[in-house]
Amino acid sequence: MNDKKMGELFLVPTPIGNLGDMTYRAVDTLKMADLILAEDTRTSSKLLNHYQVTTPMQAFHMHNEHRKLQEVTSKLTAGIKMALISDAGTPGISDPGFLLVREALSLNLKVTCLPGPTALIPALVQSGLASDRFVFEGFLPPKKGRTKRLKLLSNESRTLIFYESPHKLLKTLGQISEIFGPNRGVSISRELSKIFEETYRGSIKEAVDYFTTLAPKGEFVICIAGNN
Ligand code: SAM
Repeated sequence: MNDKKMGELFLVPTPIGNLGDMTYRAVDTLKMADLILAEDTRTSSKLLNHYQVTTPMQAFHMHNEHRKLQEVTSKLTAGIKMALISDAGTPGISDPGFLLVREALSLNLKVTCLPGPTALIPALVQSGLASDRFVFEGFLPPKKGRTKRLKLLSNESRTLIFYESPHKLLKTLGQISEIFGPNRGVSISRELSKIFEETYRGSIKEAVDYFTTLAPKGEFVICIAGNN
């Protein structure tokens, strides 16, 4: 009989703003884990304190994930249960996670992602744009390659979803307007699940006018109608 204790990696989604969106299973998993890897241990301490999770925590983020990969996977191989969390939402979605998942799977370790908060799904579902087929693009490249990426996407017939920060929102909408045309339908959600949650729906041109008058604040998800 093989009674070797097997390690397991859990990807645990955390709230994108509203603490109440933490699931029972997410809390149980974080309490049961031997170690939590967190994108920012200070940010996650608030969440863990709130839910009385006392599991030890280590930093695992985009600046050290390559360096830490071997150390982390050898702990998993040695049999520990590990949970990965990011600052908000689902790890691996515009957040660290992919590298570790790929490496753990290559070592035949068990990997489980819990269902839970992420910004793209509520933004899409409440956009009123087609939600049966969609393309998630995450963040556009920060500098070079933005126009090229948008041109490649301009004939896409499925709904497109982008993440954006407040200080780049108008620049991004301007570029989208130039390449997709000003009349394409958009839905822009900000501060999802928070007190000042808002979704603006209209054409790209109307959205540019709206956010020019009202300075963009908070975090944004941009959904754009497909080219139909
Ligand atoms: N892992 C996260 C997820 O599952 O959605 C995404 C993390 S990514 C670093 C952060 C981006 O997600 C923000 O810039 C914004 O585009 C989007 N986002 C996160 N929380 C949000 C919220 N409450 N409202 C709107 N957008 C949000």
